Amino acid sequence: MAEHAHSERFDSQMFIGGQWVDAVSGATFDSINPATGAVIATVPRGDVNDVGRAVAAARDAFDSGRWGQATSERERSRLLFAIAEEVRRERDALAELEVLDCGKLLADARADIDEVAFMFEYYAGWATKLAGDIPPVGPHAMSLIVNEPVGVCGLIVPWNYPMLMAAQKVAPALAAGCTVVLKPAEQTPLTALRLASIVERVGVPAGVFNVVTGFGVEAGEPMLTDPRVDKISFTGSLAVGRHIQRTCADQLKRVTLELGGKSPNIIYADASLAEAISGTCSGVFGNQGEVCSAGSLVLVERSIYENVISQLAEVASEIRLGSGLDPDVTMGPLVSSAQRDRVQGYVASAPSDGARCLYAGDLPSDPRLTEGFFVPPSIWEVDDLAPRIAREEIFGPVMTVTPFESVDDAIRLGNSTEYGLAAAIWTSDIKKALTTARAIRAGVVWVNDSQPAPSESMWGGYKQSGVGRELGPYALDAYLEKKHIYINLS
Ligand code: NAP
Ligand code: MG
Repeated sequence: MAEHAHSERFDSQMFIGGQWVDAVSGATFDSINPATGAVIATVPRGDVNDVGRAVAAARDAFDSGRWGQATSERERSRLLFAIAEEVRRERDALAELEVLDCGKLLADARADIDEVAFMFEYYAGWATKLAGDIPPVGPHAMSLIVNEPVGVCGLIVPWNYPMLMAAQKVAPALAAGCTVVLKPAEQTPLTALRLASIVERVGVPAGVFNVVTGFGVEAGEPMLTDPRVDKISFTGSLAVGRHIQRTCADQLKRVTLELGGKSPNIIYADASLAEAISGTCSGVFGNQGEVCSAGSLVLVERSIYENVISQLAEVASEIRLGSGLDPDVTMGPLVSSAQRDRVQGYVASAPSDGARCLYAGDLPSDPRLTEGFFVPPSIWEVDDLAPRIAREEIFGPVMTVTPFESVDDAIRLGNSTEYGLAAAIWTSDIKKALTTARAIRAGVVWVNDSQPAPSESMWGGYKQSGVGRELGPYALDAYLEKKHIYINLS
């Protein structure tokens, strides 16, 4: 499918209180296809007034019991299954829209949308299973521990997996009986708006699910300070996450934070090398490196180091940049010119910062893509982890490699980052795998793999990578309050 075939526009209003509306101010902003720089949609630029309307709608839907109390769990479950069915029906269109808005590969976008559908199914199942508990408190009383929805939730998401990150919050929040206001990233508002049309179509009551498009400070920030919002769940950068935690502290709003990472990828000499090399490369260069859990801090046991770095460079040299819609392309553009400039800045300063370039790829040659936001993959050797590219989250196709001497050394280097989101370990020795997995301070550890995150499992960060957990049953805790009802029987 050629990029120029897509002159189609995806202009949309936003979805508040069951209505499609413009911003109160009438302001709009453009969403851009990062492969070509072309404007593909104009959407409302929401601000405090629009957030106010959305929060009022969500508050009313919650307080009137249209969702959490009066809607039965079975009905909530049925509606979530219906959303999943519609996502599956629109799968190809949603995947293409995701590619056009954020630049990822079509095959990856399809996998994202499939997981979105499954996520709604998974939490549709949970909606009818949020049982409480009856702890024994003696013969003359009875205690009931019941789960109740936390209330109105502000959900703020990033641009790297736009619909998946949204679903990761929306599905458990709705299953728990919460009502929500979703703020997609300014770079990628389009699939969130399509989700709104699906939610509307299947008949979710008005006000339960709202989308406000706009910029973080204008359309996100007001949710942090609005006293009618009970909970903020945020996925994004550490800097904004800290600001959210601080701001929400004033009202003691509940906060879940899924933040960045600088994840070690440890290759032991006894690893199955072909798998380790290809898994390491896809774990760093997949999704253009715009992955919070990218295993970009590659640590290699000294005895295989020279062999590994030459093989990593060889695999990287096969990467072909271009439009995500082109089936021969294996790496798309970064999401925006700002993100491209940021990543290029890291690459440009790397040599003077003590990193040695082992490999650098080429820009796409297609003249139609000269306005796209491409950054070629690169691999850098760093002796210690002092250079900025080995310490900071880059969110682009940049790998560092560093040799290590022993298990202790690998663990020390792997734990040297301020983040603690994920780690990958490649080895055929089960003891080494588990010793390392237990010692690494990260929320997710892969053994002989990199990046899988099944919706039934768990996700979340240690250290500066976040607060709270998502996916699986763990996500539900973030949207529930527990209540103890004590009954005197004497
Ligand atoms: P970001 O700049 O922190 O933005 C994330 C979201 O927060 C966007 O919707 C943004 O809106 C909004 N925002 C910005 N300032 C705000 C404020 N003052 N108040 C309320 N909302 C505000 O992050 P990003 O650049 O989009 O995404 C990349 C980051 O996300 C990386 O650090 C990555 O590691 C992290 N991430 C983490 C996970 C995880 O699961 N742990 C998953 C994916 C990504 P605008 O975009 O409109 O400004
Ligand atoms: Mg876009």
